This record gives sequence, structure tokens and C-alpha cells, in this order.
Amino acid sequence: MAKEKKAIKSKPQVLEEAAKAAPKEKVVAPPRTSSAPELLRGMRDILPAEAKYWRFLRKTAEDFAVAYGFDCIETPIMEPTNLFVRAVGKQTDIVEKEMYSFDDQGGERVTLRPEATASIVRAYLSHGMFNIPQPVKLWYEGPMFRYERPQAGRSREFHQVGFEILGEGKPAVDAELIIVGNAFLRALGVAASVQVNSIGHAGCRDPFKAALLQHYRARRSEICEDCKRRLTRNPLRVLDCKIPECQPVKNSSPQIVDHLCDDCRTHFMKVLEILDEADVPYVLTPHLVRGLDYYGRTVFEYVPAGGEEGAQSALGAGGRYDGLAEILGGRATSAAGLAFGMERIIARMREANAPVPELPAPSIFLAQLGEHARRKAFALFEKLRAAGIRSAANFSKESLKQQMEIAGKLGVRYALILGQKEVLEGTLIIRDMDSGVQEIVGYEKAIEELRRKLG
Ligand code: AMP
Repeated sequence: MAKEKKAIKSKPQVLEEAAKAAPKEKVVAPPRTSSAPELLRGMRDILPAEAKYWRFLRKTAEDFAVAYGFDCIETPIMEPTNLFVRAVGKQTDIVEKEMYSFDDQGGERVTLRPEATASIVRAYLSHGMFNIPQPVKLWYEGPMFRYERPQAGRSREFHQVGFEILGEGKPAVDAELIIVGNAFLRALGVAASVQVNSIGHAGCRDPFKAALLQHYRARRSEICEDCKRRLTRNPLRVLDCKIPECQPVKNSSPQIVDHLCDDCRTHFMKVLEILDEADVPYVLTPHLVRGLDYYGRTVFEYVPAGGEEGAQSALGAGGRYDGLAEILGGRATSAAGLAFGMERIIARMREANAPVPELPAPSIFLAQLGEHARRKAFALFEKLRAAGIRSAANFSKESLKQQMEIAGKLGVRYALILGQKEVLEGTLIIRDMDSGVQEIVGYEKAIEELRRKLG
């Protein structure tokens, strides 16, 4: 028996191998082998082989949320289009090119959310959360949709986990988010650094935009068509450009920190002082502006250690968005937030072979033989589950040999065997899987006996 067991792979082993074999980043659709329905481009299935990473990521996010006092919020995946147009900004890539928008059956223009902050601010306002003690700390997790060109690290449906702090404008909030994000990535075994910048408030940005325009106009022949368009419509967005030919112009462009007013400069210095005090390393990144219009003052982005420069590698990002509630027609509300891309984090965890906990393995396999026993086995399985004894079974298998093979693969310590004879006698067999020794116990005593054996 023991010899046989060695040759058989345990379930964790099998899953681990499957996880390694599973595609890390699906960029191209699988080859067409049949007329079966296909995935939409840029969408992917998350298969069981990857489940342990998702489970660990979600569990870690929840642990952090509890530790730092964030309450969970879930908002609809679909919102009125206008919410995102107003919040994210008309002249951003997201609103101009990337939203999944359509008219619903009632003729209302709706959009699959490209991000969650707008929805959370909407919820904060519409539920009067400004009336409860501030700040309000919320976290969320779920799918987002952006019609982007799919490539490694970029898909059209992706998942974010995020943390938002509303109703507080102090620099400590910005620092808290950066610190939480940093510790979160570390807890997941992902090496990253955080880039930080301040883009001031609107009053600081106006003179900066003028300086930026002057610089870019003088070098118009060196930039891409998109940047030329951005210059006339939303100049700050030229700094989001990742196209290599634009980088020399970007790198020599004016820096917004030189245009910060006293208040914004003091705010930024305080954020950095807290980070220094907390020993959180950061990289001052003068051209980091973030691709959404609602940000002001502190902005930051987590980039993987050793990762290439570029939008496709950022693991997460965030910043302060004090003006957003007012843009949405609500009262002035200071707020800041942070969102991580879950697929990108998981890709890094897998690359780094980050240790990820497995689900506890079952210690019992419940085998049944015959129709009568099978019916009774369901009740027994439920008893085992209620007693907290992790068990496995395969109720559709008829042969004991097959069931014992499964038990062997799972590496359980004991098999419970319930046959016709045992049902009639009110007993069952407990088989020690290592020694092969079997004993008969009374049906009612089985749980107690197993508890004793498993210690
Ligand atoms: P953003 O909402 O644009 O600030 O993005 C926050 C994070 O979400 C990024 O740093 C990425 O990790 C992730 N992310 C954004 N867009 C995509 C995408 N199309 N595919 C995969 N992850 C994405």
C-alpha cells in the first residue's frame, strides 16, 4: 500500500503542476479547435489551477482591510455612462477610447465600470456617508472593463482590489495608503517600489500646463500623433505617454513640483516625512501624473522590482482626489485612494514563486458501496463536515477499488468504508491508509473515534 502511494501524486502536487502549466498571461485566444463558443478578445477564464493565488490575494486584502479599519463596499458593475465621463474626465484615454458603453433596453446610456473610485464616491454621496464619523475607509474588489489593446499584463476585463479613504484631507491619509499598499505587496511576496509625485491642485497645474505646452510645442516634430492631440485638448496627459519616441521630450520637460503652491508643497513634504519615518522607501518621480483627471496633490504608482518601464507593468496606483465629490455634484470632500491590478500581482507572485498557502488537505475519504450505503453516506459526510473533519468522497463512483485509488491520491490518513453489510449492522470500517489495518466501529461512534485518531 505504502509503495503504491509513493507513485501517486497528491492533489496539491497535481494542482501545483497544473498551475505551472497553466498559461500565465493569456494574450492570444486559444486556437480554434471546434465550433464551441469562444472568449471575447481580451477576456480570460480564471481556472481552478490559479485559484490558490486568487484566494490568497483576496484573503490578504481582507486581512489588511480589517487590520487598518477599512469596511467592505460593493458597487454595481454597471453605472450610468455619465458618472465616468464626469469623474474620470472627458479627454482621458479611458473615456475617449476604452469604455464599454451601450444603451440598455430602456434607452439609458450605461457603461461597464472601467474603475471603481467614481462609483464609491457616488455611493458615499448618495448614502450620506458624510454624516457618519470621518474619515470613511472603504475597500473593494472586483472586475473592471476597459476596451484596450490586449497584451501581456493588459486585458479588457481585469480585477482590481482597492482602498479608499474619504472625508479627510490630511497628508497622513496619503501616507497611510502608500504604506498599506507597500506592506500589502510585501505580504504577497511581490518585490516592488513605489513612485511618488505631487501634481498640486488646479491652481498649481495651470501655470505648469502653460510651461509644459511651451516645451512640447517647441519640440512638436519629435512627439507622437496622440501627444500632439493631447497638447491641444488636455496637455497634462502627454506625461502619460509611454511611446519610446516621446520619452526624451517627456524626460526634459518642466516638473510640476517646481510649480507647487505653498500649501501643496507643505502637504507633499509632510507625506514624504511620514514615509521616511515609517521607513518606506519611495522614488520621487517628477513626471508621474496618472491617467485620470480627478487626481490632485499626491499621486503614486507601484512598479515591480526589475520590471520594465511602462504602463503595462504597474502593479497598482493611487492618489488624492479632493475635487471628485464636487465634480459629481456633491459637497466638497477630501479623499484619496489606491487600486491594485490583481492579474498583474498574481503574475508576479507566480514568477517569484511566492509561497501561497494550500487549502487544508482532507484527512478522511468516505467510500460507499451499493445504493443503500450511498444514500447513508451523504448523511455521514454531512456529519463529518459539521464536526469539522475535513473529508473527501466521490459519490458517483461505484467500485471500491476506484474509490481507494482516489483516497490514495489525496493522501488521506483514513478511509471510511460503508457497504451494504455495514449499513445493515449499523457499523462502518475505518481503514488506516498507511498500514492497511481495518477496524469496525459502530456508526454512531465513528465521529468520536475519528476525532480521537486524528488528535
Ligand atoms: P488605474 O485604475 O488605471 O490607476 O490602474 C490601477 C492598476 O490596475 C494598474 O496599476 C494595473 O495594475 C491595473 N490595470 C489597469 N488597467 C489594466 C488592464 N487593462 N489590464 C490589467 N490590469 C490593469
